Amino acid sequence: MRAETPPPAQAPSPGPAAGPPGIELLSFGCRLNALEAEAMRGLAAAAGLPRAILVNTCAVTAEAEAQARQAIRRAARDNPGTPILVTGCAAQLAPAAWEALPGVARVIGNAEKLDPAAFADLGTPRPVPDVMAARGVPAMPVAHLAGRARAFVQVQQGCDHRCSFCIIPFGRGPSRSVPAEAVVAQVRALVAQGYREVVLTGVDIASHGVDIGGAAALGALVRQVLAEVPELPRLRLSSLDPAAMDEALWQALAEEPRLMPQLHLSLQHGAGLILKRMKRRHSRAQAEAACARARRLRPDVALGADLIAGFPTETEAQHADSLSLIEACNLAFLHVFPYSARAGTPAARMPQLPMPVRRARAADLRAAGRAAARRLYGSRLGQLEQVLVEAGGRGHTQHFCPVRLRGAVPAPGQLAPVRILAADDDGLIGEVRPWP
Ligand code: SF4
Repeated sequence: MRAETPPPAQAPSPGPAAGPPGIELLSFGCRLNALEAEAMRGLAAAAGLPRAILVNTCAVTAEAEAQARQAIRRAARDNPGTPILVTGCAAQLAPAAWEALPGVARVIGNAEKLDPAAFADLGTPRPVPDVMAARGVPAMPVAHLAGRARAFVQVQQGCDHRCSFCIIPFGRGPSRSVPAEAVVAQVRALVAQGYREVVLTGVDIASHGVDIGGAAALGALVRQVLAEVPELPRLRLSSLDPAAMDEALWQALAEEPRLMPQLHLSLQHGAGLILKRMKRRHSRAQAEAACARARRLRPDVALGADLIAGFPTETEAQHADSLSLIEACNLAFLHVFPYSARAGTPAARMPQLPMPVRRARAADLRAAGRAAARRLYGSRLGQLEQVLVEAGGRGHTQHFCPVRLRGAVPAPGQLAPVRILAADDDGLIGEVRPWP
């Protein structure tokens, strides 16, 4: 945890707030943060705040924290008198430090983000609740990510694992599942509003159901959503822990055409010893087996992964193991992070690699990922793809390949049949065709 705590700052002066009315969002980090920020915008407005700035922080990397602090200082300078509400994992881990930043009216804990009371009566101090004591996940008001053609639905919160590099469980608390009925209701409401694609998201979605029924049940949830919302054309999953994918989920991948043929796996590394030091629950062989099983069950499946470069003690040979994993599993969509030491985590106490080495290895991994993506794009040439149209004459296929569209491009949010004419490093180029 953070050592020094700066002196408490002055409460922002009341009086007319500078800037346009409404709630401005500054959200850092994951999609779940962005989704929560949209939901909180509604709660802040409902609490009668004429103007406020809501900052949803991330603690995954030191960089993300620095960006949020900088944004708060800028917001306070440019909007004197406007209350700044700070929340998110970084704020949850060190509330006093964030409260001390200029313009901050309140730090809202991660467990109370969807509690209307957290946005009321800003003049009265309110302690940040202990997120480790959080139970249950309040239903998220149906929220839209502005300008997004696809909608996101939270199915799970928090995490029960203790990967040695990760601070998230201490910021978001234990794993809690959103009940299936609430998920189905959200999906149905979003489809009724015209969304053609929904992404199920959370922190560790593969553990959905463990706190309710004692066993991972994401597969059953996927089946239930698709069965009870037959008008939903496309269901997509966010990052999955390969060690926790339940049997029903594998079967759904094989049998449900409306479950998108794209999996993003939280693999983190390709070397067995590093996976052990990360306290991951899968080995290199199990990672490869999960990718092979996905391809057996859904031969055209596109795979992506989270990978960390430059983890403490990583050797050149172990780095090469991650590169070979990308090749062996043709991991086309990579989220690569240079390792970032998080205070309070076991990995932060291990011998650290110099940052330039971490960054150089991250660049290697990204280059290998681009090559894998290029192979995937090439394999789609000539295909008639179903594309979700987004802004700017672009879209994404079912495999999540980016497409630049030609021809009569429908409005964002619509699905269109597209003949793939060409491929390059940036994705596919395709022509909109009439429905067959
Ligand atoms: S599974 Fe590991 S990396 Fe993912 S949130 Fe939990 S502790 Fe962090």
